[in-house]
Amino acid sequence: MNKQSLTLAIPNKGRLREPSLRLLKSAGMSFEVTDRVLSLRVRNVEVDLVLVRTEDIPGMLIEGVADVGITGLDLMEEANGASGLEPLVKLDFGFCRLAAAVPNSSAISSMADLKGLRIATSHPRATTRFLAEESIPAQVVALKGSVEAATKIALADAVVDLVSSGSTLKLNGLREIGVILESQAVLAGLPEVREHPMVRQLVTAVRAVNAGRRKRYVLLNTTPDNTGEISRIIPGLSAPTVIPLAEENMVAMHSVVNATDLWELLPRLEEAGGQGILVLDVGQLIP
Ligand code: AMP
Repeated sequence: MNKQSLTLAIPNKGRLREPSLRLLKSAGMSFEVTDRVLSLRVRNVEVDLVLVRTEDIPGMLIEGVADVGITGLDLMEEANGASGLEPLVKLDFGFCRLAAAVPNSSAISSMADLKGLRIATSHPRATTRFLAEESIPAQVVALKGSVEAATKIALADAVVDLVSSGSTLKLNGLREIGVILESQAVLAGLPEVREHPMVRQLVTAVRAVNAGRRKRYVLLNTTPDNTGEISRIIPGLSAPTVIPLAEENMVAMHSVVNATDLWELLPRLEEAGGQGILVLDVGQLIP
């Protein structure tokens, strides 16, 4: 691995492209990507971005063409043989599951029922590994796409495919019977890159963005006699900040809260004497 700069592979299209670009920008990288750009140097850090197909990224990491890359955990597992490619950090987007499904009319109700049957999938290695681990002998038919159609043309008795909401399965008359892998986007790399200073910087920045996204910064004004009650409602990371205001007998309180708690916190803060309540996004957070 080149010690001076980092080569980071990111999806050039598909559902992981935009969230990946957004994440890297939020993490502090300055760059502009246009549609046809294949690679570029980030302006403010020694990182070369290469834009390639999401499914090609694990192979590039294994071959050492890129140092780290953003891809799906499912694709990483699919490419992983003995290479030891690992998720350096999970990225909190691109959530889906690799699931087994059968036609609604099928008598099959569990994964164990797949014994001796044919399973069509675009993830043959992950499926084969799972079946071996679970001691379910079955025949895996590898397909590049249109996996949902395989049972209709009697190519297979069941399918293993990526599912997020489940609506595509339903649309194709399929019923989910079990999950092989829970997936999301990951920053992946070989174990030896984990301790590289630039990889550590990248992992810290990305973690801080994702931690910040789940939080909000709350500011409010109140009278000093309310600070005890309000501190109990919004204790923050350790304790809220209390600052005197220029106006006598008034203080400002600042705290960090879970974004998902705000719904019930705001009326309680108002009731406890909070005024001028402001809620701000948190760009990055290291707890
Ligand atoms: P792409 O085909 O380039 O849009 O990206 C495919 C990757 O996106 C998959 O390997 C998954 O990691 C992820 N993904 C997230 N949700 C889904 C979904 N509902 N179907 C397929 N892929 C998904």
